[in-house]
Amino acid sequence: MSANAASSRGALLALYGGSPVRTSLLPYGRHCIREEDLEAVSRVLRSGWLTQGPALEEFEEAFAEAVGARFAIGFSSGTAALHGAVVAAEIEDGDEAITTPLTFCASANCILYARGNPLFADIREDTLTIDPDRIAEKIGPRTRAIIPVDYAGLPADLDRIRAIAERHALVVIEDASHALGARFDGKRVGSLSTLTTFSLHPVKHVAAGEGGVVTTEDPLLAARLRRFRSHGVDRDLRARSAEGRWSYDMVELGYNYRLSDIAAALAHSQLGRLQEGLERRAEIADRYDRELAELPGLRVPPRREGSASAWHLYPLRVDEAVLGAPRDRVIAALRAEGIGASLHYRPVHLHRFYRQRFGYRPGSFPISERESDKLVTIPLYPAMSDGDVDDVVDAVSKVVRFFGLERSRAGPARPRSRRGRGSSSEDVRRRSSP
Ligand SMILES: *Cc1c(COP(=O)(O)O)cnc(C)c1O
Repeated sequence: MSANAASSRGALLALYGGSPVRTSLLPYGRHCIREEDLEAVSRVLRSGWLTQGPALEEFEEAFAEAVGARFAIGFSSGTAALHGAVVAAEIEDGDEAITTPLTFCASANCILYARGNPLFADIREDTLTIDPDRIAEKIGPRTRAIIPVDYAGLPADLDRIRAIAERHALVVIEDASHALGARFDGKRVGSLSTLTTFSLHPVKHVAAGEGGVVTTEDPLLAARLRRFRSHGVDRDLRARSAEGRWSYDMVELGYNYRLSDIAAALAHSQLGRLQEGLERRAEIADRYDRELAELPGLRVPPRREGSASAWHLYPLRVDEAVLGAPRDRVIAALRAEGIGASLHYRPVHLHRFYRQRFGYRPGSFPISERESDKLVTIPLYPAMSDGDVDDVVDAVSKVVRFFGLERSRAGPARPRSRRGRGSSSEDVRRRSSP
């Protein structure tokens, strides 16, 4: 396929029957497995410990060191890690924690697991992270914690959030699922909040299959997290067997949220390539910025002076008024071109569960809703080849030019409702919903 042909002005979109930029779908994110990962996992499989063995502790030590934290505690998923952090922060029946609507639902669900009440504070339009001014407005006598999310890999306003938390004696649980390797004011994410959580899901920076981590500086919180992930039992199996003891005491209600040694070995091996992966992500993000920032109707993701994003996602914002096409049609057009564009995220409060349970509706958090309606995530992960990156740039340019030309032909009216192959059900859903 010829990149030049694809990017020529006004080339017919694959969505409407033209030839696609690429024939295989490039996902928006993907893990990378190398020979050394296979060897690390094989070693564990031969070692005699599939779970509760030494590989977990080795991984935890390496992870703590990588983010500059005193303790790292492995969990069976990023969601379990959030649950652990919420319980460690002593959020109980009716307590409140404040998070952002523009996140994966787990950032809010974890509060409900502890029978707390999730409150939302709207985002800043520029950084897409929770707005500290709006956090302050939400704090009441039952508020216990703030759960900022480092959206797309860019740290939230951690200094201001910490100041608010200190003033009101709140705990900061930073959901850094997107931000392993990010920096704020030059300091590493994972060492900045009372509790910081990470995900080891394959689209994130380090893959374990499923897995998560909580980091903290506080030995009491670390002990509580370890107990919570293993049934609330006072000593773990390995400590007991090392001491030759067979009895144990369950001292509080816990879960089985352990990270297996198999998963820990995979994650540990991947962690060794974290820097390399971060550099490649930043390189691709820089290239996208250079190629896409000037296209009409597109806005590239935020950056912040003094912060380094971990570039989990590259969320473009499309301006429907300039582009002449709604966001869902842009995503459908990119997917027809072979580019696995996606949306991160539909605001949490607009999911059916949250609407029904808490009475949220469109308009509840207007900035999150307005910005979410513009978002298009394009592929970004270290294993992308330069040719893959070219394909993304070509496809985005092609789609923007096509809709732009169509719009200038049609005048400022609504885009033609020509629908060809690949027309998306999202498009339909969006039109029929309020
Ligand atoms: C991925 C993610 C999680 C959950 O992680 P899992 O490992 O999939 O459970 C939580 N919060 C955010 C913001 C995420 O992106």
